[in-house]
Amino acid sequence: MMVKEVLFGKTLEELKQVAKDLGFPGFVAKQLADWLYKKKVTGIDEMLNISKKNRDILKEKYDLGLSAYNKVQESIDGTKKYLFKTISDQYIEAAYIPSENRNTLCVSSQVGCKMGCLFCMTGKQGFQKNLSAGEILNQMVSIDENDKLTNLVYMGMGEPMDNLDEVLKSLEIITSEWGFAWSPRRINVSTIGVVPAMRRFIEESECHLAISMHSPLNDQRKELMPIENVYPIEDVIQTLREYDFGRQRRISFEYIMFEGVNDSKEHALEIAKLINGLHSRVNLIKFHPIPNSPLKGSSNEVMERFKNVLENKGIITTIRKSRGEDIYAACGLLSTKKLVENKS
Ligand code: SF4
Repeated sequence: MMVKEVLFGKTLEELKQVAKDLGFPGFVAKQLADWLYKKKVTGIDEMLNISKKNRDILKEKYDLGLSAYNKVQESIDGTKKYLFKTISDQYIEAAYIPSENRNTLCVSSQVGCKMGCLFCMTGKQGFQKNLSAGEILNQMVSIDENDKLTNLVYMGMGEPMDNLDEVLKSLEIITSEWGFAWSPRRINVSTIGVVPAMRRFIEESECHLAISMHSPLNDQRKELMPIENVYPIEDVIQTLREYDFGRQRRISFEYIMFEGVNDSKEHALEIAKLINGLHSRVNLIKFHPIPNSPLKGSSNEVMERFKNVLENKGIITTIRKSRGEDIYAACGLLSTKKLVENKS
């Protein structure tokens, strides 16, 4: 059986090529974008301003490419974890996090991850594959709350900079007038600091950027995050200093706090020194213990003290509320390893 290509996740340029290849008039590309990203149809036959004949031609070669979620779990705090099966039969997760003034979806960009961070369940799963732009966007449109979403963060499974082509394509679709027409200020993309890709992201996108720091000390960061061997945190910060982010675009540093490891006053002072003068903020995150790891989360008291040291140095600092811990939807807890193992 011929495997059909998918339409969902194609940019306007790519849809123009589809129209051209099928011998359709050029304006059909814009109509396709409209049906896919504004009217959010669930089948090609719903594209009513495209003639029946052309819809039939389209259906011969293309599928829409949308897939429903396989499972959803809801936390006592309202956070929901959605499980999706990708086109190639692998599993990914997305976390929906409602709060008073915003409804955020945390999406995955890869199945698993190659970066091997010590504290991360996704890292322990290893790398399976990059998601396509369509698979990334499918997480957004296929959850029950798709109409309620106000914000999007690329902080689920995977390192977005390691799949940058597809991540940028998905961002183009979300932020373009012909796409979902979201402001880039509603989107935050995280990285552990893959410098060349981060540079490209800064230049080609206007979305916010979050850097996972987790330690300001090289030797310790190497132990927590092997990427430090290739791109030391000073190089990451030096790269950020080369750009003018303006007042609207936000740079933040994510800092998971591990008891007795990276939560001392010296660590806070070192962070202040490293990012001194850089227009940015620090988000302190409570660590959720993961199986087979000796790491523990710092207490609330220690986190408050750490925050005060940073604030006294003039750094905007917040402590992120922990969400969805009971369903393993919190930061660093997304993993589909069990499912992968059960399948094989
Ligand atoms: Fe990959 Fe991010 Fe986990 Fe590191 S923290 S292993 S980059 S998913």
